[in-house]
Amino acid sequence: MCGIIGYLSNEDKDIVPILIAGLKRLEYRGYDSCGIVVCNSKSETLIEKSTARVKKLEEKAKNHPFPANMGIGHTRWATHGLVTEKNAHPHCDCKREIFLVHNGIIENYKTIKEKLKKKGHNFISETDTEALAHLIEHFFKDNLEDAVKKALKLVKGTYGLAVISSRDPKKIVIAKNASPLVFSINDGGEVLVASDATSILNFSRKVIFLEDKEIAVLTSKGFKVFDMESDRLKTKEFQELDWTIEKAEKSGYSHFMLKEICEEPEAIRNSIRGRIIAEDGLAKLGGLEKVQDKLREIEKLFLVSCGTASYAAEVGKYMLEEYAGISTETDIASEFRYRKPILTKKTAFLAVSQSGETADTLAALNEAKRKGILTLGIVNVVGSSVARQTDAGIYNHVGPENAVASTKAFLSQLSIMVLLTVFLGRQRDMSLVMGKRILGELEKIPDLMKEILKESEKIKEIAVKYSRYRNFIFLGRKYNAPIAKEGALKLKEIAYFIHAEGYPAGEMKHGPIALADKNFPFFFIAPSDSVYEKTISNMEEIKARNAPIIAIATKGNEEIKNIADDVIYIPKTLEMLTPMLTSLPLHLFAYYAGVKLNCDVDRPRNLAKSVTVE
Ligand code: GLU
Repeated sequence: MCGIIGYLSNEDKDIVPILIAGLKRLEYRGYDSCGIVVCNSKSETLIEKSTARVKKLEEKAKNHPFPANMGIGHTRWATHGLVTEKNAHPHCDCKREIFLVHNGIIENYKTIKEKLKKKGHNFISETDTEALAHLIEHFFKDNLEDAVKKALKLVKGTYGLAVISSRDPKKIVIAKNASPLVFSINDGGEVLVASDATSILNFSRKVIFLEDKEIAVLTSKGFKVFDMESDRLKTKEFQELDWTIEKAEKSGYSHFMLKEICEEPEAIRNSIRGRIIAEDGLAKLGGLEKVQDKLREIEKLFLVSCGTASYAAEVGKYMLEEYAGISTETDIASEFRYRKPILTKKTAFLAVSQSGETADTLAALNEAKRKGILTLGIVNVVGSSVARQTDAGIYNHVGPENAVASTKAFLSQLSIMVLLTVFLGRQRDMSLVMGKRILGELEKIPDLMKEILKESEKIKEIAVKYSRYRNFIFLGRKYNAPIAKEGALKLKEIAYFIHAEGYPAGEMKHGPIALADKNFPFFFIAPSDSVYEKTISNMEEIKARNAPIIAIATKGNEEIKNIADDVIYIPKTLEMLTPMLTSLPLHLFAYYAGVKLNCDVDRPRNLAKSVTVE
C-alpha cells in the first residue's frame, strides 16, 4: 500500500539522499504524503515530513543538513486519518525516542490507543500506526527488538514495519505480516531495507525477503530473523536477484495488471479483514456506524458509478434486493446527474469509485446532496473527494492500483457489496443463520480464487487460441449478468483490437443471436446456480448456429463440455458470491489476449486511470 525504506551505516554521514532516492523509487506504489527520520551517533534525531511529492521532502531536508548513521522513511497511502503532516509517517512515542514507519492496518488500534491514553500516553495523530509506536514504548526495557516483539503479540492486522530507537541505536528492527519487506547488507556493513527490491537493486543484488510473522534485527554486523510466534531464531539465506528495476516494481510479474490480478485474493482479504463478527453473523463497518440509525429507515438505495465500478454496483443490487430486502436502483453517474431521479427522504445515495475523484460520480453526488438525501461512498483512496463529501462510507483498503484497468479494486468492491448486504440485511430481517452463512462463505473466497489462479496456464492457452477473433459476446444471468459486461469491458479495454459486448443471457434472442456464426465466439458465464438451466438453453441455441463457445462452469460439471468448445472451471460457492470467482478468469482472459495481441496492457491506448473530466 505504501513504501518503506530504512538505512544504516557504521558512521555519521549525509544519509538523507539515500532515503530520498529509495522513496522516489517507491512512489509508484502510491503515496499521498511522505516523511523520514534520521538519528546520529549522539542519539540526536531529525524528522522531516511533507504532504507533497518526495521531491518537496528532499528540498525541505536540504535546508537542515544532519549527518546520521541510521534512518527510516515512508511514502504513505492513508488508511486511517487524513493526508496531513501529523498523520504522515514516521510516528513516534511520547519521548520521541522510538520511531516507526508502517505499511498496513492495525485493526485493534482503537482499543490499544484507549488503554495507553489512560496510562498517560499522548497521541498526536489520527492514524492506527501511532498506537503501535506507543505500545512499543510501553514495553521498552532492555532492547528494541524485545519491545517490538511484545507489542506485535497484541496487534491484530497487517504490517510491514521498520523501527529505530535512539535508546537502542545502530539497529533497525523490521517485521512483516502481509505487507512486503526485503533487506540487504553489503560488505561495507551498510544495511538497506525496503518494501520491494526496486530501491535495493542499485545497492546490492543479494537480498532476503522477509516472510509473514517474521521479525528481524539488522545491524552492520549482520542480521537475526525470528519467528514471531515461537520466538525461535530462523536460518535465512541471501538470494541473488537478476531483476531489472522495472521488473522489481512489478514484483517479478511482466505487467502491473497481472500482478494486480494475482493480488485479487489478497485484495478481498484486505477488504474484509476486521469487518466480520462471525459469531453474530454481523458485518462491522466502522465508517457507517454514525449513520446506522438513518440506514435502518432507508427504503431505497441508489448505487451510482461509472465503468467497472458500475458492474460491481449491479452485482450489489442483486445482493441487496435478495438478501437485505432493500429496493435498489443502479445508475451510471453521467446519466444520474442529468436526469430526474425520484429521491425521497427514505432514499440513500451510494457512490462507488476506486479513485474517489471520478468527475461524473462527483457531480451525481453533489446532485444527491442538493436534494438533501443521505450520501454514502465505497472508495479506495482515503481523503479523496467522494470520501470527503459523503456523509459516511466504506474504504476498500486494497492499496493503489497501477494498471489502468481496474481488477483488484473491482473484486474488493464486490466483497464490500457482500458486507454491506449483511450489514443492512441484519438491520432488517436477515437471520443470524443467513448472516453467518454468507460471511462464512465470503471468508473462503480468497482461497477459492487461489485455486483458479493455479489454472492460469490453461486460461492463457484459451485466450491465445481465441485472440485471433475480432468480436465477442459475453453472456450471463442474474448475478453474472453484470459480470458478462465486466468480461466484455476488460477484453475491449485491454485487447483493444477486439470488439466485445456483454449482455444478460436472456437478451440474447433480442439481438445478439443474429451475430452467431463460426467466426463469432460467445463466452458464457454458467456456474451451477438458480439460472443454470436457462443459460444452458441459450448455449445450445448458439451451438446450433456453429459459433465457438467458451464457458465458465462449476467444477464437476462435465456435461457442459458437450456444448462448449472450451471450459474454465471455478470452485463451488454461494450463488451470490460466484461473481468473485467468475470475474477472476475473465480478467486473466483479457490480460492474456491483450499480451498476445501486443497491446499495452498496463496503459491501454486512449484510456486514463481516473476519469476526472466529463
Ligand atoms: N495505516 C497507516 C496509515 O494510515 C499506514 C498506511 C500505509 O500503508 O501507508 O497511516
